[in-house]
Amino acid sequence: MSYSNQHRCWVEIDLGALERNLGRIRDNLPQGVRYVAVVKADAYGHGVHQTASRLMQANADAFAVANVEEGARLLEIARGWPILVLGPVLPEEENALIQLGLVATVSSCEEAIRFSESAGNLGQTLDVHVKIDTGMGRLGVWHEEATRVFQTIASSENLRLRGIYTHYSDAVESPEFTREQRARFVQAVRAAGLEDRNDLLIHADNSAGTEAFDRNNPFNAVRVGLLQFGVTQYPSSVFHSVSIEPVFRFFTRVGLIKSLPAGTPVSYGRTYVTKERIRTAILTAGYGDGIPTAASNRGEVLIRGQRCPILGRVTMDQTVVDVTKVENLEVGEKAVIIGRSESSEITVSEFSRWTDSIPWEVFCSVTKRVPRLYS
Ligand code: PLP
Repeated sequence: MSYSNQHRCWVEIDLGALERNLGRIRDNLPQGVRYVAVVKADAYGHGVHQTASRLMQANADAFAVANVEEGARLLEIARGWPILVLGPVLPEEENALIQLGLVATVSSCEEAIRFSESAGNLGQTLDVHVKIDTGMGRLGVWHEEATRVFQTIASSENLRLRGIYTHYSDAVESPEFTREQRARFVQAVRAAGLEDRNDLLIHADNSAGTEAFDRNNPFNAVRVGLLQFGVTQYPSSVFHSVSIEPVFRFFTRVGLIKSLPAGTPVSYGRTYVTKERIRTAILTAGYGDGIPTAASNRGEVLIRGQRCPILGRVTMDQTVVDVTKVENLEVGEKAVIIGRSESSEITVSEFSRWTDSIPWEVFCSVTKRVPRLYS
């Protein structure tokens, strides 16, 4: 692509792959299960306007964001779509939340009363989802105490119940505990007599849950982020066989090539010393772009299909790699930080292991100075 020659470091976002991923996820859900696309944190760094537009075309049913500000930003292109705010709403954000018509998460009777009063003062109705804490210990009313929250909402003229959800704390590592969370959730929904309310969105499964669990009654929606962006978490998941595609590719370029004699220290702190004469390339990206220092002496990049180890400490704007194996390398050539080069690939998951991170954090750590290019 011609633009790829114009940047020192850039991300390519494949919106076609995003759309196809949503289609594949949908094809593997039972008929009628609704799809809440999680696009918080600027759609995990992918760009909320671009990705949400495509997810709308691909028939996502609703969106979820972290806060009111993100909701307002998404509304610029998604007027009329249900937008659930997953995070807590601060008192000074309440009026904006209500006037914008965003959907709030309610985690307690106190919160329900606060929202009800604010909506009443504005003469408006606020749509809400009740969040139930089944073992995450973060937002949500504890599952054994949820009924009172439903009653408080039912008794308010200004609140309209639109959904119920919970969130898993460990869906990949602890399927047993996740099953327990699901059972607690179902029990809380049943205790409130809401299990047959198909007009409500009843959702628990994030990406890992969507990969791993059946959607039995009363679950009638999923809430997916990572999987739509092309990252699977279960080695045996059905989504491997239906070819979920990577959406995000991260590149930089070779800024200088040089030869270093044996015994030469490389980069700050001299944490790497050459053992023999080697050829290095100085790449035009560093932690100021999203290659964390944790990748120092650990990570690799791909150049012409070859894995080139990172030598020494990653610096703010530059990273040194060993290119001894790459013949006839030229200044300006592309280096793949995340993505495919010939038959080799560095996935987001592999990159996250080198950097003591997780795929969500890798996406969010690519900084603002890195242009996102869409195809
Ligand atoms: N629901 C909530 C409450 C979340 O916080 C997140 C992500 O952090 C998600 C859903 C989506 O999770 P995933 O990206 O694993 O699909």
